Amino acid sequence: MSFTARPSGLDRIDSLTLPAMPSKEFSAQRLDVQAFAEEGGRLSGQRPLSAFERIVAEAEGRGGERLVTWQASGELRNPRHVHPEVWVTLQAEAVLPLTCQRCLAPVDVLVSVDRAFRFVADEAQAAAQDDASEEDLLALSRSFDLFELLEDEVLMDLPLVPRHETCPEPLPVPATDPVEEVESPRPHPFAVLQGLKSAGADPGGKAGGKSDKGRQGGSKG
Ligand SMILES: [Zn+2]
Repeated sequence: MSFTARPSGLDRIDSLTLPAMPSKEFSAQRLDVQAFAEEGGRLSGQRPLSAFERIVAEAEGRGGERLVTWQASGELRNPRHVHPEVWVTLQAEAVLPLTCQRCLAPVDVLVSVDRAFRFVADEAQAAAQDDASEEDLLALSRSFDLFELLEDEVLMDLPLVPRHETCPEPLPVPATDPVEEVESPRPHPFAVLQGLKSAGADPGGKAGGKSDKGRQGGSKG
């Protein structure tokens, strides 16, 4: 098969009947999902953490300048079907400064999202099919907020208990009472008891009360 240029007349007819569709400008925050899938649309970018309120809250306000790298693509599956499936794949990656639950210092946690969503006609359908389906179902929208979905997914990927593999600082000594600290050099009570026993002394004996009284009397007189 060799390529042969078509007569220019046909070209002209083609261009009239099938005008080149300018690729639609898709907006990640107001995405026409159906059109995005039909066109096999692609979107990608980087967005600062500070733009994701709920993620920032998880990071306790740290790292707002860090970037979430993301991309999304639309696809019609089974396009010849009467109701072809509308899919959007979302991928994202970010390093979040979370709080280590062991030493309470910041710990960088890599979070990555790679998930495909099938869009159905409405919420009711999504809910109805959700139980029977292992797919992630969402309701079609002409103004879908991809970043909100991204944020949901990132939050779902967070570890329940973020922590360092090895904490950078030795664990802080648990806060102690100053009194306890003063008393801490005192030998263990059992050791004292043991010492008394081995010395043959009676731990309960020796009326100390007498000497106390004597001292009091002395200071008065
Ligand atoms: Zn730690």
